[in-house]
Amino acid sequence: MSEEITLAHGAGGRLMEELIEQVIAANITNKNAGGVGLEALDDGASLSVGDYEIVIATDAHTVSPLFFPGGDIGKLAVYGTANDVAVMGAKPLAIASALVIEEGLPKEELEKVIKSMDAAARECGVAIVTGDTKVVERGKLDKLVVTTTGVGIAEKGRVITDAGVEPGDVIIITGTIGDHGTALLAFREGFEFETTLESDVAHVWPAVERALRVGGIKAMKDPTRGGVASALNEWATKAKVGIVIRESDLPIREEVLSACELLGIDPLSVGNEGKALIAVKREKAQDVLSAVRSTKVGKNAAIIGEVTSEHPKKVVLETEIGGKRILDWPLADPVPRIC
Ligand code: MG
Repeated sequence: MSEEITLAHGAGGRLMEELIEQVIAANITNKNAGGVGLEALDDGASLSVGDYEIVIATDAHTVSPLFFPGGDIGKLAVYGTANDVAVMGAKPLAIASALVIEEGLPKEELEKVIKSMDAAARECGVAIVTGDTKVVERGKLDKLVVTTTGVGIAEKGRVITDAGVEPGDVIIITGTIGDHGTALLAFREGFEFETTLESDVAHVWPAVERALRVGGIKAMKDPTRGGVASALNEWATKAKVGIVIRESDLPIREEVLSACELLGIDPLSVGNEGKALIAVKREKAQDVLSAVRSTKVGKNAAIIGEVTSEHPKKVVLETEIGGKRILDWPLADPVPRIC
């Protein structure tokens, strides 16, 4: 690992995993409060309280620019954190929000962000219950960082972790792949595409809740930084299983594909902000797919592959022309500061 932290260390790929494991998690001695702890390096953690488990997840949002096609930092801060709680199998209930503001930020912009957070929280049915506000000198921060912590609740024993995937399970994605990162990159670079690329930033709980009601859910993850490639590699590594996905079954919008081609990036390595990957028992897969598709956020859901006992810890992509290639961990998300 290099001596200094680079942008790539925050970009959701292998370098970030290494930084978290070797520098952060390695230096924290007490990682577990009686549930899922930091040692699991999952979307969030849990604490058992009576017949329930309290799920907690936290995210710092540093997206640039603050406002982008399809969303803004406020929406991202609420949905991003609520989604991490949701994919642990818990209903999001409340959010705490810490703002670090750069001196000089127009009050009007801050108000716009807060109103956007409020609208997103209302849609998620979560309350923004506490927070903190700090201001730093001009030039010491890029406008605004919003850190949100989400709390949710699940029945005891019902928390869903990454390590739950098993050979035979079927993998579902709740919608199209690559929209958020591609939209941000195209917008930032000032590329003008004929079609409008938009972030997919949205609340996944409605789709997740329907899936949980059907049952047979083994693992869930929101493929944010590092995209689907990172998320599936995390599953394969943690559960020591192989994963196969089929290129022809991947739901990717035409405009995202062409933009990715033009920008030279892989949509599978690009962050999503309104999607969940769901691993489900084979016999429940069709019912879960229908349940997810019946929701607005999950209407483009698809079965994209399965879990296998072959090639443990590796993700294999079956290409459209019938070939196979390893879908490796991206070194980093090709688009920095997208969330
Ligand atoms: Mg997550």
